[in-house]
Amino acid sequence: MMEETIDNTPEDNAKQILERLRINGLWEPAGLGLSYLREGERSLKLVQQHNNPSAAQARVRMKILVEGIGWTVDESEVELIDVQHLSPQEAHIQELMKRQEIAQQWPCPDCSTPLSAFPLEEGEWTFDGQQEMTLPEGHETEDGKTTELVEQWSVVITCPVCDTTVPMEPYDYGLLAGDDLMLKYDAKAATYVALSRPEIISMVDNKLTESIKVLGTFCPLSGELLPPHVRGSVVVFSPRSEEEEE
Ligand SMILES: [Zn+2]
Repeated sequence: MMEETIDNTPEDNAKQILERLRINGLWEPAGLGLSYLREGERSLKLVQQHNNPSAAQARVRMKILVEGIGWTVDESEVELIDVQHLSPQEAHIQELMKRQEIAQQWPCPDCSTPLSAFPLEEGEWTFDGQQEMTLPEGHETEDGKTTELVEQWSVVITCPVCDTTVPMEPYDYGLLAGDDLMLKYDAKAATYVALSRPEIISMVDNKLTESIKVLGTFCPLSGELLPPHVRGSVVVFSPRSEEEEE
C-alpha cells in the first residue's frame, strides 16, 4: 500500500542537513544571517551572526530547533558582522572568503592532515549515479512530476600522508582547489582548459580556432560523460594519449 507523503517538518529537515554536514562543515540556513560550524558528533558552534534584529531573533529560534533534535549549539564566540554598508557583491565576496578560510581547516578523517595539503590537482571526478530529488513546491515539471533525477558527482582526493581517499562534494572541492583547478579538466583523451571571453575573442581573431572545442555532455574525443561544471564551456584542448604512452 502506498503511504501518503507527509511534508517534512523543520525538525526533519534540520536533522537531515546536519547529519550530512562534515566536521568543520558550514551550515548557513538561507536568509537568516547565521553561520554554524559542525564541531562534533552532535554539536554546532555559531561562528557568525549578522548584526541586525532579524538575525538575532533567528538565532533564538534556531537554538530551540537545534536543541529540540538533540544537538547542542555553542554560542560563546560569535562574530557579529555589520552588513548594512556592504553591497550585495561585497557581501558575496566576504562570504566566499569566509567559506574558503574554513575549508582550509578541513582535516583528513584518518590522520588530520589538512585537505588543503592534498594534491588537489590530482582529484578524480567521479560519477556516482543519479538520485531522485524532490522539486521545490511550484516547480513541478511540465508533465506534472514532482521529482527529477539529478546526477551525483564527487571529487576523490587522496591523502599524501596516509593514502586515505576522501570523496568531496564538487562545491567543497571548488572552495579548496580554487578557480584555476576548476577551469582545467583532465578527461581520458585530452586536457581541457576553459577560456574566458577575451581569450576566445583573441583566439578567433588570430585564427587559432582549430584548437578550440565547445563541450556538451560527452567528451568529443572519447565519448565519456563529462562533469556538469565543464559542460557548455569553450575550451582549448591538448590530447593526453601521447604523453601517457611514453
Ligand atoms: Zn590522512
